Amino acid sequence: MSGKYEAVLNREKLVFAPGVRRWPLALDRGAGSKVWDVEGREFLDLTAGWGVTSIGHCHPALAEAIADQASKLMQTTNVVYSEPQLDLAERIARISPANMQHSFFTSSGAEANEGALKLAVRRTGRSKFVATLNSFHGRTLGAMGCLGQEKYRKPWAGIVHEADFAPYGDLAAAQQLIDKDVAAVIVEPIQGEGGVVVPPADYLTGLEKACRDVGALLILDEVQTCCGRTGRWMALEHSGVQPDILTFGKGIGGGVPIAAFSATDDVMNAIVPGDHGGTYAGNLLACRAAATVMKVIEDDGLVENARVLGDHIMERFGALAKRQADKVEAVRGAGLLVGLVLRDAELAAAVHPETRERGVLVNLTAERVIRLFPALNIPRDELDQALDVIEAVVEKS
Ligand code: PLP
Repeated sequence: MSGKYEAVLNREKLVFAPGVRRWPLALDRGAGSKVWDVEGREFLDLTAGWGVTSIGHCHPALAEAIADQASKLMQTTNVVYSEPQLDLAERIARISPANMQHSFFTSSGAEANEGALKLAVRRTGRSKFVATLNSFHGRTLGAMGCLGQEKYRKPWAGIVHEADFAPYGDLAAAQQLIDKDVAAVIVEPIQGEGGVVVPPADYLTGLEKACRDVGALLILDEVQTCCGRTGRWMALEHSGVQPDILTFGKGIGGGVPIAAFSATDDVMNAIVPGDHGGTYAGNLLACRAAATVMKVIEDDGLVENARVLGDHIMERFGALAKRQADKVEAVRGAGLLVGLVLRDAELAAAVHPETRERGVLVNLTAERVIRLFPALNIPRDELDQALDVIEAVVEKS
C-alpha cells in the first residue's frame, strides 16, 4: 500500500459527514466493468455504482454526449421548454407500456416516488397508502412512510405518514388492506434492497385488480429494475401488469443523477403546476445523458444481453447451490439483478469482504443475500472471472 488510502481516510474524518458505513476502499477511476482504487488495485465491479452504471463506467458515447451538452447548455429554469427533456421523454414513452406517455423528471428515485405519491393523492382525493414489508422506496420523509423496514422509519415515527404494510408477495394480505380510502399501492416488481425477492406470478396483476376494484392507483417502483436490468426494458413486462404510475431511476442515467415518474394521460393530468419539482428536475445535462444511455442500451441490444447473461449466472449459481447446499439456500432474480441467498448472516459477512479482497465488488443486502447488479454490457469473460471468485470464496468459507 502506498499510503494513499490512509490519506483519503484522514481527509474524510475532518470534513465528511459520517452517515454511511463505508467499505475500506477508495475508488479513483473506472472503465466498463472495471474500477481501480487510489492504490492502483483493479476490481471487477458487479455493483455498477449500485445498479446505476448500466452501460459500464465512463462509456465513451456517454462521456462525449455529456461533454457536448456541457459546452452547449447545462441548465435552464423549468419554466422554459427544452429539447433534451423531450428527447428523453419520447424515448421513455416508446419503451414504456403503451399508455404511460407522460414523464416527469426528478434527480433521485426517492423524489420520483414522492412525486408519484403526491400525484396519486391529487388524482384520487385520498391519502392512505398500502406498501409492502421489506420494501425500499427512498429516504425522503414521504417515500420513507412507504418503506417497509422499521429500522429506517422508527427514528422518524410521528413525522412520517405511515403506509399500511402487507408481506411482499402475499396477495390476500394486501387485498385486506386495499379499500376505498386508499390512494395508491406502491410496490417493487422485484424487491431489490429487500434481498432480490421475486413475487409469485399472479401477484402484481392481482394488486392491479384490487386497486381497480376500489379506485386506488397502482404505483410500480422500477427505480432499481428499470431500463433493461431484469432482461426486459421494464420488469413489469414479466407479468404484464399495467400500473397507473411508474417510477424509475438508477440505470437510466448511467451515473448522472436523474430519475422520473411517468403516468397515463388521465392520471398525469391531475397534476397541478407547482405540485412537484426542483431546481434540477429535468436538468439538461442529465436528460441528454439519460437519452444517450437509453440509445446505447437499444442500439447494442443490452436488454437481451442482460437476459442472456442473467440466465448464465442463474445456471452457474444453480450448480453452486447444488454443490454447496449447506451454504446456499437459493438463487433469485431476473436478468442482471441476482441474489445469492446464503444460509446464514455470519457466512455472508465473511464472504462479502473476502470477495472484495480477491478483486470483485458485490453488495451484501438483507443480511445474507449477495446481490449482483453489474453493467448490462459486462463482458462475459469478466463476468465469468468474477463468478469464479464468488464461487471459490463461498466454497472455502
Ligand atoms: N426505489 C427503489 C426500488 C430503490 O431500490 C431505491 C434505491 O435503492 C430507491 C427507490 C431510492 O432511489 P434513490 O436512492 O435514487 O433516491
